[in-house]
Amino acid sequence: METTAATPLRELTTLRLGGPAARLVEAGDEDAVVAAVRRADRAGEPLLVLAGGSNVVVADEGFPGTVLRIATRGVAERPGADGRVRLEVQAGEPWDPFVARCVDAGLAGVECLSGIPGSVGATPIQNVGAYGQEVAETIRGVRVLDRARGEVAELDPAACGFSYRSSAFKRAPGRWIVLAVRFELVRSAVSAPIRYAELARRLDVPVGARAPLGDVRAAVLALRRGKGMVIDPADPDSVSAGSFFTNPVLDADAFAALERRVARRLGDGVRPPAFPDSGGHVKTSAAWLIERAGFARGHGDPRGIAISDKHTLALTNRGAGTTAELVALAREIAGGVRDAFGVELVPEPVFVGHAWNAQPA
Ligand SMILES: Cc1cc2nc3c(=O)[nH]c(=O)nc-3n(C[C@H](O)[C@H](O)[C@H](O)COP(=O)(O)OP(=O)(O)OC[C@H]3O[C@@H](n4cnc5c(N)ncnc54)[C@H](O)[C@@H]3O)c2cc1C
Repeated sequence: METTAATPLRELTTLRLGGPAARLVEAGDEDAVVAAVRRADRAGEPLLVLAGGSNVVVADEGFPGTVLRIATRGVAERPGADGRVRLEVQAGEPWDPFVARCVDAGLAGVECLSGIPGSVGATPIQNVGAYGQEVAETIRGVRVLDRARGEVAELDPAACGFSYRSSAFKRAPGRWIVLAVRFELVRSAVSAPIRYAELARRLDVPVGARAPLGDVRAAVLALRRGKGMVIDPADPDSVSAGSFFTNPVLDADAFAALERRVARRLGDGVRPPAFPDSGGHVKTSAAWLIERAGFARGHGDPRGIAISDKHTLALTNRGAGTTAELVALAREIAGGVRDAFGVELVPEPVFVGHAWNAQPA
């Protein structure tokens, strides 16, 4: 399907923001995806791949090229070794129904990722994660169209270069179009060990314990609803792109400097949240820093762009907002955290038609 009239991208994003695209093409099978990309590349047209629109911040001016909507469908399942099951999933499959299907079928490995909006094909892009699980743990390969080489290729997990909320795909935007993702899940009635303390408390199990898959999915969905993190037309706090900033990952010196600034500003004995990793880095909480820098939930314009009433990390559009206003609020927050604590916040969503680091006009 192809539309040449200007299409407002706000209708295709969960933030309900973004100006028009010059051309909109929807591709329902892999050949149509490959053909549409090749045609845009031959014509030298800018190309934006868009699926669920839940992790993009599109400029008010829109996008001056082809927007390709990935609408491919299909899940192929086959047995693997040791009670494992391999699933090859087309990029356009919606993510949460796929998770629900796995939970119902007694397949463990993605249950903590319940309720995340968007498509399967976008999950490798930022190594989607939540509640102690991320897709890098279960992805065994990604079929891509490599635009640099002009060919369809299979990338193994090492080539995907997964890291916290990032990947080779995110570091080289636009080079690879994800066509399908291969997962390997474990046939099991219980979940992988629960790593996230808030989820363990909700399930009333110790961290590290396993719980029935259906219980984990229900608990994650309940926690997410409480934070406006499940898309719900009745919940204005869910008109967002999810978490707007990633949690800062600091080396030991930078974390020690943060501890000193927190003690100076908030008093001796106050410590920033610390989640050390095995490589000597410490992840801290962006939401904690934002709140301690003086930004409360609800801060902003009650009819336009505001911090969610339920979750400090989500920026929401109450209806009358613009992308310029969203970026202005995000810069105000990042500047406040920088001034208070010397930590640079990095946005999680992908900016389309503008850049986070660009100076405001
Ligand atoms: C309420 C809410 C809660 C969220 N919670 C979480 C969370 O807990 N954890 C988390 O990690 N994320 C979360 N997100 C962010 C988002 O849902 C995920 O990043 C999701 O994977 C994006 O999927 P999408 O199909 O909407 O991608 P889009 O927004 O359409 O695209 C995002 C980026 O991926 C690219 N892309 C999309 N599909 C392809 C493809 N097939 N090939 C190549 N590039 C592609 C796009 O070009 C764009 O750069 C949340 C968002 C919202 C709105």
